[in-house]
Amino acid sequence: MKQWQKLAGSVLFFGFVIFSPIARAEEVKITLLQLNDVYEISSLAEGKQGGLARVATLEKDLKKTNPNTYTILAGDCLSPSALGTAIVNGQSLAGEQMVAVLNAMGLDFATFGNHEFDLKYQQFLKRLEESKFTWISSNVFDKENKPFPKVEPYKIITIPGKANTTVKVGLIGLTLDSNPADYVTYKAVIETARQQVQQLKGQVDIIIAVTHLALAQDQELAQTIPEIDLILGGHEHENIQQWRGNDYTPVFKADANAKSVYIHYLTYDTQTKHLTIESQLKPVTDAIPDDLNTAKIVKQWQDKGYQAFRAQGFAPEEVIATTTESLDGLEASVRNKSTRLTELIAQAMLNAVPEPDLAIYNSGSIRIDDILYPGKITQYDVLRILPFGGEIMLVEMKGSLLEEILEQGIKNQGTGGYLQTANVQLGPDGKTFFINDQALDPEKTYRVAINDFLMKGKETGMSFLTEQAPGLKVIGKEKDIRQALMDQLKLTYNSKAINR
Ligand SMILES: [Zn+2]
Repeated sequence: MKQWQKLAGSVLFFGFVIFSPIARAEEVKITLLQLNDVYEISSLAEGKQGGLARVATLEKDLKKTNPNTYTILAGDCLSPSALGTAIVNGQSLAGEQMVAVLNAMGLDFATFGNHEFDLKYQQFLKRLEESKFTWISSNVFDKENKPFPKVEPYKIITIPGKANTTVKVGLIGLTLDSNPADYVTYKAVIETARQQVQQLKGQVDIIIAVTHLALAQDQELAQTIPEIDLILGGHEHENIQQWRGNDYTPVFKADANAKSVYIHYLTYDTQTKHLTIESQLKPVTDAIPDDLNTAKIVKQWQDKGYQAFRAQGFAPEEVIATTTESLDGLEASVRNKSTRLTELIAQAMLNAVPEPDLAIYNSGSIRIDDILYPGKITQYDVLRILPFGGEIMLVEMKGSLLEEILEQGIKNQGTGGYLQTANVQLGPDGKTFFINDQALDPEKTYRVAINDFLMKGKETGMSFLTEQAPGLKVIGKEKDIRQALMDQLKLTYNSKAINR
C-alpha cells in the first residue's frame, strides 16, 4: 500500500532527533511515548528508577515540541501491585490508584494486559468507567462477545499537517490470554489482527499494533501482517527492540514499571508516503523532575495505601536488607521453576516452624511479576512479592497424601498452582520424589510447613487438601508469610556469618 523506510531505532542517543535539514511541507511529525507493564505509581529502587510523575514531565516536554504527541500504554497496569491490595474504606484499591495517576499523567491510549483480568468483574468495570484515556482492544470482549463499556476495537487518529494535508493513524489492540477471567472472551490474536487491518487498510496511512503479547507472537504478527508499520508491545518486562518480516516491522517494548519508556518519532511524508521511525529508549531516572500535579496524585494514593499497611502492622518504607543478587519473581519463572526468590520464601517457611521436614507453597502467592535487582529491599517490596500474606501452618501428613499434593503441583506447571518447595527433590524419572534426599515413603508421617491458602482446598486439582483431609493433622499456625520472608531476608543478606 505504501513505501517504507523504517530506520533502525537507536538506543543510546538522548535528546531530539534532527531530521532532514530541508523540512518539506508534506512531512508530518508524530511523537509516541510508550510505556508498558506499569504496576507501581511511584519510583522504585530507592527512588532512582521509574515513577509516573517523571513520565508526565517527559510527556509535557514532548508536547511542547510537537503537539501531535500521544502517550500509549501497552498493557498491564491495574494489577498486580502491593498498593492495589491495600484495603481503603473496606475495599481493596484494585488499580483505582493506577487509573487516577494515569489520568493525571495524561495517558491517551491503553490496551489490556493479561493482568487487567486479575480484577473481579465489578472492579474491572469501575476502572474502565474511571479511565479518562481510551482503552483499545481488538481481540478481548466480554462473556457475550461484546466490547466492554468504553472500549474501542480500534481507533483512528487524524493528525493535521500543513497545506491541508492530514495523516491518519490506525491503532489496534491485542492481548494474550494468559490470565483468563470467567468474564472475558479472547479471540485469536493473528486472525483478529488480520481482519482489523483489512478494515483499516485504505482508511489510514499508518497502522500501529499496541500489543500485550509474548515476543514470539509479536514476531509472528510482524511477519504475517506486513501492513502493520509498528508494534508497541509489553509483557516481557525488559526492553526489547527487534525488526521482523520482509519489510522489517519494528517491535518495541520498554522496561516494566516505567524504568524506561520508548519515545518514537514518526515522520510521514504525505507526498511520497514514506514513513520514518526513529526510536529512543529513555531511562526514567531521578534526572527527570516530577510533574508536580501528577506527583501530588501519586502521593495521595501512596499515603492512603501506606496508611492501610501501617494499620496492619507494616512499616512500608523500612529497609530490611541489601541484596547482593537478583530475585526473580516473574510469573513466567516462578510458575515453571524455582528461582532464588522462591527458594528464600520456602526457606523462610522452614525457619518459621519447629522441626519441619519440608515446605510447600503455591507459586501463585508470588504476585510481583518482576525482578528485584541487587540493592535495598523494603517492607513494601515484600508486600509486592506476597501481597496476600497469610499464615504459615505446620501440619503432619502421611507420605501418600504428600505425594498426591506434589504430583498435582507438577501437573499445575505454568499456573499459580505450580508448587514451590524446600527439601523436596524430584528424581530423574520426573515422578519419584525425595524428601531430604530420602525416597518419599507413603507410610511415613512428614512435618510440612505450608501456606494457609493451600490448606483451603481451593488450588487447582487440590480440593482434597483441607484441614479435614484423612492422614492430615494441623499442629500449629505460625507467623505471617510476609513476616517470615522479612526475617529470612535479614538473615540471608545482613549477616555474613550465615551461609546459605
Ligand atoms: Zn503481562
